[in-house]
Amino acid sequence: MTEEKVKKTKKEKASSKAEGKEQHTFQAETKELLNLMINSLYTHKEIFLRELVSNSSDALDKLNFQALTKPELLEDDGELKIILDVDKEAKTLTISDNGTGMTFDEVIQNIGTIAKSGSQAFLKSLQEKDDIELIGKFGVGFYSCFMVSQKVVLISRAAGKKEGTRWESTGDGTYTIEKDDKKSRGTEIVLYLRDEVTDSSNPEEDFSNQYTIQNLIKKYSDYIRYPIEMDFHREEYPKDKNGIYIKDAKPEIIIDHKVLNSQTPIWEKNKKDITEDEYFQFYKHHFHDWNEFADVIHSKAEGTIQYTTLLFIPSRAPSNLYDKNYSQGIHLYSNHVFVMRDCKDLLPDHLRFVRGLVDSQDFSLNISREILQHDQQLKVIGKNLEKKVLDALAGLLKNKREKYEEMWDEFGKAIKGGIYMAYKNKEKLQDLILFPSSYSGGKLTTLREYVDRMPKGQSEIYFASGKDIDSIQRMPQLEAFKAKEIEILYFVDKIDEFLTQNLDEYDGKKLKSITREGFDLDKVLKDKDKEAEDKKDKKKKDEKDKTEEKDEFAEKTKKYEDLLKTIKIHLGDKVNDVRLSKRLTTSPVCLVATTSGVTFNMEMLMKSAKQITPRAAKILEINPNHKIFEVLQKLHKEDPNSPQIKNASNILFYQAMLIEGYELENPVEFSNQMAQLLVEAYK
Ligand code: ADP
Repeated sequence: MTEEKVKKTKKEKASSKAEGKEQHTFQAETKELLNLMINSLYTHKEIFLRELVSNSSDALDKLNFQALTKPELLEDDGELKIILDVDKEAKTLTISDNGTGMTFDEVIQNIGTIAKSGSQAFLKSLQEKDDIELIGKFGVGFYSCFMVSQKVVLISRAAGKKEGTRWESTGDGTYTIEKDDKKSRGTEIVLYLRDEVTDSSNPEEDFSNQYTIQNLIKKYSDYIRYPIEMDFHREEYPKDKNGIYIKDAKPEIIIDHKVLNSQTPIWEKNKKDITEDEYFQFYKHHFHDWNEFADVIHSKAEGTIQYTTLLFIPSRAPSNLYDKNYSQGIHLYSNHVFVMRDCKDLLPDHLRFVRGLVDSQDFSLNISREILQHDQQLKVIGKNLEKKVLDALAGLLKNKREKYEEMWDEFGKAIKGGIYMAYKNKEKLQDLILFPSSYSGGKLTTLREYVDRMPKGQSEIYFASGKDIDSIQRMPQLEAFKAKEIEILYFVDKIDEFLTQNLDEYDGKKLKSITREGFDLDKVLKDKDKEAEDKKDKKKKDEKDKTEEKDEFAEKTKKYEDLLKTIKIHLGDKVNDVRLSKRLTTSPVCLVATTSGVTFNMEMLMKSAKQITPRAAKILEINPNHKIFEVLQKLHKEDPNSPQIKNASNILFYQAMLIEGYELENPVEFSNQMAQLLVEAYK
């Protein structure tokens, strides 16, 4: 019997003698989770080891952190490490650490009562996606050991405390807990392995095989920065003085003590030596994101300030990215020692989705958030990181468009926020933004691509805002653009229109809303047509056309001045003006905003955000070539005071409002007017 085992047996005896053994029942959710673990058919059972080792590593980190203010905690118990012990005969695997440990109450808290939300969320995610690997994400990783164990014994002693605690469960719905005379600080977890995972004919799933364990540590936990040690037992026949094996002699048990992990933090390794999968393993467990990242930035700065950076651009946004209390940031390490999580002073707010860490020997171990805000070094590092992230994003956009667009879906709003906040890196940010456009039925485009596609005569960038692509595509104001194939950017994001306050031009071209008044559509169309024509003729013809059409339009407007006035009177202060439209080809009416002030979209947004809302000035444009206009003229001719004109004016106005996406303030009135109209029509 090995010394270790003798100790264990003594311990078990001591514990069974101990008074005050309590039996507790797990909560319903925990029971359900345990049941699932025990009956799991999941093939990657091996992940239990990664979960337990990373718990140990966390416990060592915690101890290190506590020792910053209480160095006496580190006094006994030697070097910080994790020890694995495999007993093939007894079919046990023991994982021990001399980390922070747990008190009696903490064991009940952390191991007996798992976070209700965690287990529920995990069970739900399992139903949706049968992947036990995700267990660590939900703060219930410890329970994965029940996939391989028929019984689990946890013995722990908190740092600085005299007394230990022993917890035991077979996963059947109850556990026992009692005091224990554990001699040293830390936690020891003994797994009594199930038969099916100790089968030597299937070495990959034989967790009583030391070499299997060694491989798993290499695979999942190599970068853990504390040594993970194991004694390897092998039998060797004794040799005589000539080095020849002695026949019939009893083999000796030789113990090789090995450190299983390289301990080099991944960010200190040479980039060339790190596989994509290694980065991913690290990313997953460090940042609890199980989606593959979009890009990784790994670099070393050797200048006056030396530091190493490992940043990840995720592919999915956490659900709370746009919440006010979103608190994730960059982790700080000083010479591989973790000193602060979620430092938000390194990257500007609009890049807050970037995850990662910076390790610099220049960071002090007891750095505080207040000091950080004024830290010049940190400012320099931050500036460099920002540049690197922006460059990486530009690289993704250029070389991995599909990935970039996926990422854009998740983080685009945040990046646009940088422009909205008039951030200094506008030059770079404006080349990173994407908008859906009419060019290819709503596919995303950059401003650069738009400008490169602009026909010669076009001198402005056109956009239309609305709540989604469909509703923009149905906008009557778009008709003429569609007919002439002039590209329009679709502003469908709430922030887009506000963006133009700081991004009013790109590459010398003004960004222009097609739904504002004074929009010289004639000029746009002419400019486009101009291109195809011979230069000389063009000029003459242009001028002629222009004056002809201008005259025609002006004439029309004059002719119907009275009718337009009447409609305006009927609509009162709902509109600022009523005009004939040049931009409509098939629709009867549309609303147009004035050149300045809030637009319709802004008005609706502010209203929905319950802000004090300035009213967008509205101009009702009527299509002079539409049948309805003929009808109005006829009515007006017969009787300028006809109540039917009033009714029709209101209905047309409400229709234009609905097309813009407004909610009608008085839907009952609208409905009555419509009914009145129907009565007259069918009379
Ligand atoms: P998570 O580690 O994600 O919080 P776990 O279910 O793996 O979820 O562990 C639950 C808690 O139990 C941990 O948060 C930690 O407080 C405690 N714990 C687990 N293992 C150890 C250990 N080796 N040393 C100290 N505390 C531990």
